[in-house]
Amino acid sequence: MTRAALHSATRRQRVAILGSTGSIGANTLDVIARHPERFEVFGLTSHRRVAELVEQCVRFSPRIAVLPDRAAARQARQALAERGCPTEVLEGPQALCQLAAAPEVDAVMAAIVGAAGLPACMAAAAAGKRLLLANKEALVVGGALFMRAVAAGGATLLPIDSEHSAIFQCLPEDRSTWGERIDHIVLTASGGPFRGRAPESLHGVTPDEAVAHPNWVMGRKISVDSATMMNKALEVIEARWLFDLAPEQVHVVIHPQSIVHSMVVCRDASVLAQLGTPDMRVPIAFGLSFPERIESGAARLDFTALQGLHFEPVDLRLFPGLALAWQALAAPPGTTAVLNAANEVAVQAFLDGTIRFTGIHSVNARTVERLAPALPAEATLEDLLELDRRARDEAAANVRALSPA
Ligand code: NAD
Ligand code: MG
Repeated sequence: MTRAALHSATRRQRVAILGSTGSIGANTLDVIARHPERFEVFGLTSHRRVAELVEQCVRFSPRIAVLPDRAAARQARQALAERGCPTEVLEGPQALCQLAAAPEVDAVMAAIVGAAGLPACMAAAAAGKRLLLANKEALVVGGALFMRAVAAGGATLLPIDSEHSAIFQCLPEDRSTWGERIDHIVLTASGGPFRGRAPESLHGVTPDEAVAHPNWVMGRKISVDSATMMNKALEVIEARWLFDLAPEQVHVVIHPQSIVHSMVVCRDASVLAQLGTPDMRVPIAFGLSFPERIESGAARLDFTALQGLHFEPVDLRLFPGLALAWQALAAPPGTTAVLNAANEVAVQAFLDGTIRFTGIHSVNARTVERLAPALPAEATLEDLLELDRRARDEAAANVRALSPA
């Protein structure tokens, strides 16, 4: 029996995509559409993009669609009824958790942007799902609590961030061997659109310049994070938790071509790397099919056409935000949640034209300095969400202090 036939003989995997109207969500649907014999779309969700969600429902006929906003949900119900689409629309923030933990769901793609995705990620973890984690902010905020929920729920946590997928692909399946095997890991970073610029020249850059990433097409928030390298800072924290590393075991190097997606340096000094064209469908296909491999739709790497692979150290004068990762990891638990909240507020303020590009780092650094978290030893999700709210208030005050009256 061929593998495809074997799969159609067994049940198809039912997938819920949280944040299906985003860049990762759309790429996930692209991979799923290539394998109708393996996957079935069970649920889709969006924040506000009603028309896009409706189109996705008409095409993939999921059982459930979720729109946290009630007015948006009402609009979607009406549009779906007019199109004769039987998808049921759930509303309210709890509906995301309900979908993530639904007994019918096998795999959850967590592709909401920001800490807003944390409760649903926790629900999927506790329910023991195959959890495809793109939503790095959820892990940066959730930290130890998130990893405990994964272990307690018996969930299979598969990183979707390309660097973390690369590291995961370089490691054996048996997690218990990782500690003795890894000397350190090296996350690669493209350096974004401003690599090589003079630090003073970044003062006046516009949102459009900041989101114009040289190698990847992504949502606006992560694109700004790539321009400040706060994305890499969040990824350092993400890697610390995913691979149970000490902060100093996570290194970063600039690699402008984004071909080597990251590396594991082993105890014996041997280096393992994962390479490929920069296309998020590769880590997504890997997450969906692990431990097997399926067609992703990505172009094959042509080594003869490569102009060379270049590596260089990070210029911390240009990207001061990167250093905040190790600072936050060394500070009391909860500091990484404060850093994440500050960054979400600061990036939005920059995109709204309220602060300058360089103001993002000022807001982040000042918020972490001024808000020392005091979390109980066994912090709960509620404790973390409360800290997230306080950090957002503090960051908003720091935005006001920077923006012209
Ligand atoms: P995006 O902005 O394109 O999409 C975000 C999705 O989340 C949308 O469907 C939106 O409707 C939904 N959403 C936004 N705010 C929400 C809220 N408050 N509640 C519920 N839903 C909400 O973002 P993206 O680029 O697809 O990134 C998604 C996540 O994946 C981010 O955490 C990002 O860091 C991570 N990631 C993205 C890429 C990439 O290539 N795009 C690569 C690695 C990691
Ligand atoms: Mg990444």
